[in-house]
Amino acid sequence: MANVQFANIRKSFGAHPVIKGVDIDIADGEFVILVGPSGCGKSTLLRMLAGLENISGGEIKIGGRIVNTLPPKDRDIAMVFQNYALYPHMTVEQNMGFSLMLNKAPKAEAEKRVKYAAGILGLDKLLDRYPRQLSGGQRQRVAMGRAIVRDPEVFLFDEPLSNLDAKLRVAMRAEIKELHQRLKTTTVYVTHDQIEAMTMADKIVVMHDGIVEQIGTPLELYDRPANLFVGGFIGSPA
Ligand code: ADP
Ligand code: MG
Repeated sequence: MANVQFANIRKSFGAHPVIKGVDIDIADGEFVILVGPSGCGKSTLLRMLAGLENISGGEIKIGGRIVNTLPPKDRDIAMVFQNYALYPHMTVEQNMGFSLMLNKAPKAEAEKRVKYAAGILGLDKLLDRYPRQLSGGQRQRVAMGRAIVRDPEVFLFDEPLSNLDAKLRVAMRAEIKELHQRLKTTTVYVTHDQIEAMTMADKIVVMHDGIVEQIGTPLELYDRPANLFVGGFIGSPA
């Protein structure tokens, strides 16, 4: 586990500023959701935390350590994307173990971790299947399994459920929360869906056009939205 801090984070693409001074403190083990309309900068913020995007200004710390220029592989984080990008020619077991193999983990240790993740995710009986033989929900679980086997300090999710149908989406919300309650890994989760944010988050960060409008628990945002934007977005009368 680790805490995560964004301090006065800025990002421009060319002359175009898209993140305009963002401060967020995330405690050890917290499940934080970044929510806001499409284009407000959620993915860019997550990608900077992951090291997939350069930072134009400010500081990002993981576990108290400044990571601004640290390559992704040295940040001890694991990311689950919207497009799971499973390797089609690899089985479930191979998909989950691949990053461990790349990192030259001992075979016995890798097998142990894959079995553990498969157990948590209910994939025990599917380890020999290929992605094309899985349902959407099962594929999503494999994508999460790939993150879990790495036992990272921080999980990042970028709209992980947006390709699933409505019913499955609701079921997977509960699964991801159960997973978090079990592992207690610090989690930063991005969605544009305010219901998802309200039902899953310990703490919500409401973003709008490259800035943070408000940070609070779901109840705080619902009861005391800081402004009309937050009130309108969360759906309570402001
Ligand atoms: P969100 O995830 O909230 O939908 P993004 O972080 O993807 O928003 O994008 C924020 C803004 O930055 C958008 O205006 C988007 O067009 C722009 N943007 C994102 N990535 C790039 C890029 N690689 N080059 C130029 N503009 C980008
Ligand atoms: Mg996005």
